[in-house]
Amino acid sequence: PGVTTTDAWDFSVELRSEPASAEVRTAVLANPAFGKTFTDHMVVANWTVERGWHDARVTAFAPLTVSPAAAVLHYSQEIFEGLKAYRHGDGSVWAFRPDRNAARFTASAARLALPQVPEDAFVSALRALVTVDEPWVPSSDSDETSLYLRPYMIATEAALSVRPAHEVLFGVIASPAGPYFDTGPKPVSIWLTTSTIRATPGGTGAAKCGGNYAASLAGLAEAVANNCEQVAFVDAVEHKWLEEIGSMNLFFVYADGRIVTPGLSGSILEGVTRASVVDLAADLGHKVEERRVSADEWKDGMRSGEITEVFASGTAAVITPIGRLAWPDGDLTIGDHSVDHGVGPVTKSVRSTLLDLQYGRIPDHRGWLT
Ligand code: PMP
Repeated sequence: PGVTTTDAWDFSVELRSEPASAEVRTAVLANPAFGKTFTDHMVVANWTVERGWHDARVTAFAPLTVSPAAAVLHYSQEIFEGLKAYRHGDGSVWAFRPDRNAARFTASAARLALPQVPEDAFVSALRALVTVDEPWVPSSDSDETSLYLRPYMIATEAALSVRPAHEVLFGVIASPAGPYFDTGPKPVSIWLTTSTIRATPGGTGAAKCGGNYAASLAGLAEAVANNCEQVAFVDAVEHKWLEEIGSMNLFFVYADGRIVTPGLSGSILEGVTRASVVDLAADLGHKVEERRVSADEWKDGMRSGEITEVFASGTAAVITPIGRLAWPDGDLTIGDHSVDHGVGPVTKSVRSTLLDLQYGRIPDHRGWLT
């Protein structure tokens, strides 16, 4: 429903009357806390069954007014995306593969019975916001700073009947992001949970919807209670096959140079970083396998030394080395933590290749930057 022509997506721009001062902005950009401070503006567009999309606009960042009966608050009819805009050395600003986020948003919308945002309108919305809030994109002087972009869609109709909402809001907000790790990448510890399941076959695991994250939080709390930083989930049927971390995809590096990542099972999120790592690792000469990986293969590989490095991929932390795996009756560490903060050579080269591409330091042969 509600597919309209892109004419509805001519964004009007109402600039904020009192934007943050240059001093305030400079202070935020000097030390941005991930996802806590937002730029001066935001994108909003409305959709109703009768009118389709309308009132697409860039306006001052401000609280939304929704009814306490809004369907999103009760039935979680909601989706979102996450990507970054990077400033290059010449001052220009680039988004990394926004078409992939647009396509994933389209797929998530279909799964959550939300209206479609045309993919070119999705990218136009990002462009409209970044154009107005361009001073909020951190400079390229300090490595790994960027402007995190968060598109989302929520069911705003005030109606308690359980059915696809007739009124919906699409928006984009933006938050300056600093380096995820202050002292370069640092290996994280992972708790392997079998007591909670993130997603099921036929469920919403492959969609980027808020409900999946709510469902992952008890597992994360279990991880923290067990002295781990992140949680890894297994499949819902056999409780055996690795799926993903709460917000990252998983990769294993073998002693023979192979790189293995769990295949797209239908219940994991297809990460844009994951897809990019699969291509870049092949460029770097690695054989890349996308297939089922059991939790036992991970444990056995760490014990035998056949698996030499483990890392996770995602927009926020790019490539995160994994240094430890724990579960109710075991605990294993991997890698030499006295060298390079414990970041293995393959993890390091994949990570720096990806960052070099995102920050425009190597040629973008595939046209991934917009
Ligand atoms: N899995 C989940 C559950 C996620 O939330 C994310 C972050 N979007 C990822 C994987 C990694 O996806 P991407 O590389 O597109 O950020």
